[in-house]
Amino acid sequence: MFRKVLVANRGEIAVRVMRACRELGIHTVAAYSEADKRAFFALYADEAYYLGPAPAKDSYLNIDKVIQVAKMSGADAIHPGYGFLAENPEFARACEREHIVFIGPRSQTIEAMGSKIRAREIMADAGVPIVPGTGAISDPMEAANAARDIGYPVLVKASAGGGGIGMRVVENRRELRQAIEQAQSTARSAFAEPTVYIEKYVPHPRHIEFQILGDDYGKIVHLGERECSIQRRHQKVIEEAPSPIMTTELRDKMAAAALKAARAVDYVNAGTVEFIYSEGNFYFLEMNTRLQVEHAITEILTGIDLVQAQIRIAAGDRLGLRQEEIQQNGWALECRVCAEDPLANFTPTPGTIRGYRSPGGIGVRVDSGIHMGYPIPPYYDSLISKLVVYGRNRNEVLERTRRALFEYVILGVVTNIPFLKAVIENEDFRLGNISTHFIGEHPELFADVERIVNERSLGGIFAALRSNQSTAAASAAVSAFLAVEEKAQKV
Ligand code: ADP
Repeated sequence: MFRKVLVANRGEIAVRVMRACRELGIHTVAAYSEADKRAFFALYADEAYYLGPAPAKDSYLNIDKVIQVAKMSGADAIHPGYGFLAENPEFARACEREHIVFIGPRSQTIEAMGSKIRAREIMADAGVPIVPGTGAISDPMEAANAARDIGYPVLVKASAGGGGIGMRVVENRRELRQAIEQAQSTARSAFAEPTVYIEKYVPHPRHIEFQILGDDYGKIVHLGERECSIQRRHQKVIEEAPSPIMTTELRDKMAAAALKAARAVDYVNAGTVEFIYSEGNFYFLEMNTRLQVEHAITEILTGIDLVQAQIRIAAGDRLGLRQEEIQQNGWALECRVCAEDPLANFTPTPGTIRGYRSPGGIGVRVDSGIHMGYPIPPYYDSLISKLVVYGRNRNEVLERTRRALFEYVILGVVTNIPFLKAVIENEDFRLGNISTHFIGEHPELFADVERIVNERSLGGIFAALRSNQSTAAASAAVSAFLAVEEKAQKV
């Protein structure tokens, strides 16, 4: 087993990985940027090193600096978390070169799956259903013919894409050329790789993905599905497991396809096979060669610590799990709590947390990297905490999530908590009538947010904080709350 692991990430996921290390008796090393000097993960680690200035390119994305910290600290392995360098084959190769174990799949797998076009080819060859579409687009005429054959609407996608960036829906031939050019230019600036291709725009799909674990000895298992259809701009907001539409038959079929996809690339470590589902059909979307943000809901249903599994596999252990032993029990749901204003088009709201109380009680897990007095920096993703709720069935989880969101108090910055609550309370959501278009098709959610922020509740302080007219009331409410908190802390 490793002696010391460097976590090449920040925020909640850095804490999550270090927790796994602590339980395994592994020393942890943090590498923090200028903006994260006071961040919880840097304090939590056994050792912490300064990485560089706040912008990610000068710190968290700087391969040389990260490797330097790993060597300086004597770490024998690096966990990349998600985002930043997690799916960068160059980084995985740099680790391999320096004889530092990269806790993740092989660099060739990351590279192959990092190209959506290459991934589609591999999966099509392996007999995994893919969305009807093209290879790389070079000629506009050829693209127009292909789009006509596929049938409008189509989606122009960046081959190197991620985070929903570089994707454009095209309704008809007239829009195609411009959409291709725009997608190419977005892809060039975001990924330094302008290649785009065309896919059928699947109507009203659901996003359903399967968690995979594979070891160095060719064993691959799946840990069931997660439904991630509640999205904004193609980015997940709320995820749950199991999927409300899952049947034993569909699960067997999709799991078989997911295992086929993983076997096609001899997958090692934790990975996720993403599918898009519509009207009884499902298609491979992509394979994420890393830990997912939403991995916790799978951990809860299966009882398997995915980060510990990743570490053990990377250390060369055999997967001690048999497929038949892995079961999904109960229901789990994750809300991504972000420093964003839902009533201002989800604009990020960096700032200092003036009051903080996380929810608790039965069935509640909070994975976060924040605390009282923490200044949320403007440089990185706005995700600050993950509220993960579990129960025996979906109904219990929905009621519990509503209760936990009521309890969650974050003062000083506007968050999306009222929006999450609006979704959880929404009739269609409760019935499981969801698709990736859910948020766009439910504009009433925003009126609900207004109502929720005005409700008398712990979160009601949020309302007072938002409204400029009642600054006095807001500060009175905050002072009262902080006084209670202070008292509670003294006790
Ligand atoms: P990224 O790598 O940028 O996250 P994905 O290929 O994983 O892109 O897709 C992200 C989301 O975009 C999906 O969950 C889905 O909501 C939407 N999407 C992607 N491809 C299609 C498609 N062919 N038809 C309809 N929606 C799609």
